[in-house]
Amino acid sequence: MTSLYLALAILLAAVVLFVVAARQRRAAGLPGGRVVYTDTRGWGRVEKPLYDSELGLTGKPDYLIEKDGGLIPVEVKTGRTPEAPYDSHIFQVAAYCYLVEKSFGKRPTHGIIHYSSRDFAVDYTPELESALLDLLARIRMDESRAEVHRSHEQEHRCRRCGFREMCDERLT
Ligand code: SF4
Repeated sequence: MTSLYLALAILLAAVVLFVVAARQRRAAGLPGGRVVYTDTRGWGRVEKPLYDSELGLTGKPDYLIEKDGGLIPVEVKTGRTPEAPYDSHIFQVAAYCYLVEKSFGKRPTHGIIHYSSRDFAVDYTPELESALLDLLARIRMDESRAEVHRSHEQEHRCRRCGFREMCDERLT
């Protein structure tokens, strides 16, 4: 009976964690990323950076996967595998999706973030594209300022941020 209670407690904890993580992602306005299985044999290395002159944006995904006539960028991350992709990683993959569309004329349905023990698919939705364009516009504005400070009071954003180790304005 004790082990049944334990199993139920673990199940309940897993459900609560899932709901909390999903709520946090919705609050950030970003897609969470689906866990996917990928076969690395189909991955092709990208030799040259992709470039978009309109935005002055450049970047090189680690791999491109050709699938059903489309292209999917892959970003490889080393180190700890998070429960959900960091916002900065989601934006990085979104930028690669943008660059792939501009460079090859094919809009990726999603990008993949490959962590050491799990892969996440991030859907390249019109909402994500417009969040990316907003972010780039804000970065460009901030570049012209001498000092840039944290723009929010949301601890969960700092907890999931890929820059937290080097940021001296983090909230947690
Ligand atoms: S850790 Fe720093 S850069 Fe990251 S979200 Fe928090 S304040 Fe912003």
